[in-house]
Amino acid sequence: MISTVIPLLNEEGNLELLHQKLTAALTQLNQPYEIIFINDGSTDNSPQILEALFERDPAVRVIHFHQNFGKTAGLVAGFRHSRGDVIITLDADLQDDPAEIPKLLAKLEEGYDLVAAWRHDRQDPIDKTWPSKIFNRVVSKFSQLNLHDFNCGFKVYRRAVTEQIPLYSDFHRFVPVLAAGKGFRITEEKVQHHPRYSGVSKYGAGRAIRGFLDFITVLFLTTYLKHPLRLFGTIGLLTFGLGTLIELYLAGLWLLRVAAGFDIGPIGTRPLFLVGILAMILGIQLFSTGLLGEMLRYFTFRPEQEYTIKKILEREETNPRVPVVN
Ligand code: UDP
Ligand code: MG
Repeated sequence: MISTVIPLLNEEGNLELLHQKLTAALTQLNQPYEIIFINDGSTDNSPQILEALFERDPAVRVIHFHQNFGKTAGLVAGFRHSRGDVIITLDADLQDDPAEIPKLLAKLEEGYDLVAAWRHDRQDPIDKTWPSKIFNRVVSKFSQLNLHDFNCGFKVYRRAVTEQIPLYSDFHRFVPVLAAGKGFRITEEKVQHHPRYSGVSKYGAGRAIRGFLDFITVLFLTTYLKHPLRLFGTIGLLTFGLGTLIELYLAGLWLLRVAAGFDIGPIGTRPLFLVGILAMILGIQLFSTGLLGEMLRYFTFRPEQEYTIKKILEREETNPRVPVVN
């Protein structure tokens, strides 16, 4: 089965046509499918339209949120309630073209776990496309995952991916990074992109700073989370060591001068003295942060977070607890 997951907020002008185009694309695949709409607290007519679609089409499922929780929450709910082995996500505003679905699915069949659509000819205003270009370059550089377009809502996934990546806050922008961090195979495929069919964009300028902070979190989660003390402890020890050296140097200098009969005054007034003290305190704080990180990991330990399984070979009757005795 194929599940289509569509988070939406106030998209009344798009839903009918989206449903039509999706149905046309999905029926061509000759496979069972479902279309899951997640109404993320819409205040327009979207809920009524979704309910009418539900009455008409047995393939449609609708999840109404109590209020607006954001696109990421919509995706999470859609993933959890989906039944397909393959999951397709797309935006509700018809910027993503359902006719491109077969192309993405074909790419997935080549052995990938996640195929991200690449809007190579993006139809958005310049205040969106330019920040997005920078965003993609930076994320690509730091995550060592070479994609041109991380944040497109149009993607196809194997179920294992949607079940095993932790998504919260606005992490929908970093799904490929999080999936790559778990060892999944990721690629991209060029698609047609269209201007928004009806309604207005839900994302304004505020997303730049939020996106940046989320990215720091994601980088941290995918790279350093496993050993917080190794990162913070190392920097902490180095900083503390530097501070200690500075103070030892000052103390040594002072003793030498006093021994030589100079009256040089207290070392406490030298700027270097303060730098050394600051470095020592900072070092201890960094080290403690690492320790706290380790404690958090210990107390929130969940085995399934430690690995992702690609495949298990085993027999039905296998029971490792009972040794075979002849
Ligand atoms: N969306 C949502 N919840 C939100 C904001 C957006 O479900 O809080 C949906 C929106 O309805 C659309 C998709 O996320 O289906 C992408 O939003 P939008 O088209 O406004 O973003 P843009 O393409 O302008 O970046
Ligand atoms: Mg859009």
